[in-house]
Amino acid sequence: MAEPDWDTIIVGQGIAGTTLAWHLRAAGQRVLIIDACEPVTSSKIAAGLITPITGKRLVLSRQFDEFLSAARGFYSSIEAQTSYKFLQDRTAVRLFKTDAERQSWSGRVQRPEYGAFLLTPQPDPLLAREVADASGGGFAMHAAQLDVNAYLEASREVLDWQPMTLDWQRDVTFGKDRVSVGEHRARRLISCEGYAAARNPYFSQVPFIAAKGDILTVRFHDPLPHQCLHRGIWVAPARETDVFWVGSTYDWEALDQVPDAAARAEIEGRLKDFIRVPYTVLDHRAAVRPIITESRAYVGLHPEHTQLGYFNGLGSKGSLHAPWYAQRLTDFLVHDVALPHDIDVRKHF
Ligand SMILES: Cc1cc2nc3c(=O)[nH]c(=O)nc-3n(C[C@H](O)[C@H](O)[C@H](O)COP(=O)(O)OP(=O)(O)OC[C@H]3O[C@@H](n4cnc5c(N)ncnc54)[C@H](O)[C@@H]3O)c2cc1C
Repeated sequence: MAEPDWDTIIVGQGIAGTTLAWHLRAAGQRVLIIDACEPVTSSKIAAGLITPITGKRLVLSRQFDEFLSAARGFYSSIEAQTSYKFLQDRTAVRLFKTDAERQSWSGRVQRPEYGAFLLTPQPDPLLAREVADASGGGFAMHAAQLDVNAYLEASREVLDWQPMTLDWQRDVTFGKDRVSVGEHRARRLISCEGYAAARNPYFSQVPFIAAKGDILTVRFHDPLPHQCLHRGIWVAPARETDVFWVGSTYDWEALDQVPDAAARAEIEGRLKDFIRVPYTVLDHRAAVRPIITESRAYVGLHPEHTQLGYFNGLGSKGSLHAPWYAQRLTDFLVHDVALPHDIDVRKHF
């Protein structure tokens, strides 16, 4: 039987599919990505924040060091191969919004695993008076930000890809040890479809708890520090110096990509309560975060159709988590290294 054209066809060129393609390619595989080329996707509107201490409870993100080390190593190797710069170190300033946040932090600040991420010395004041009222306290930490669109665009210049919207019922045919997608034949087909994977007929058991997020692009009329600022919402640098992204909301019911007026009002209400600098809204977008139960991504192979793979569920942390998961899946597929049980998609079957 003729050799298939590709070792792997990846469905979806978001953060998941792109990052997996680079990893499989580095392991010697011939990889084709097919992508629906939608103008708005979760990856295309993401601010790319990589923040160690997040949420109302101000907890250090799970396995942060391990994920960050994989992310730094991976993105810098792709920067070297593409001559683009995607990953920037950033200072993130978090101001407390409530007494509960302040108290929660006072119990954690002395712990060495938290201290490692704090700026020393802490800036005083945390933010200039003209920018925000920082008298309620807060802290400044080391963070990072991925320019997701630059990463996706630069990757398209190097990786093999083709525009196509895959219909799983119509376009996919299984053979022994291989799979056909239209005119393409491969050993494997891997779903990296983001939230669209919730409708994948082969993986319908995977329990999505996806959340729509709205995000604004804003031009500030006076200078804002080129930092990530957090208080109830976040304000993060975009490409132009006076333009920032402001977000974002969580809506677990309206799972569509339609910008929502109520979400915009919520974001602007929090922005006015936080930042004193006048602004103009330039753009408003929305997409659905691919969140799966236990807020972790799942990877691996379908239990019966072993030509079918899966890498979805990056949730709110795609920029940080994608390289670590892509490496686990590559080690499993190419080097026969067992997957950790808690991230194996088969646990849902
Ligand atoms: C408002 C907002 C802000 C965010 N901010 C951040 C942030 O600051 N930091 C961070 O780390 N994360 C952030 N995220 C989360 C981040 O966007 C996700 O973790 C990440 O984008 C998920 O990537 P993905 O590749 O799994 O999915 P997607 O980005 O959805 O990519 C899936 C791709 O597959 C394609 N596709 C789907 N089905 C098919 C098919 N059948 N055929 C062909 N193509 C198909 C889609 O068109 C798309 O290109 C944010 C998300 C939102 C909504």
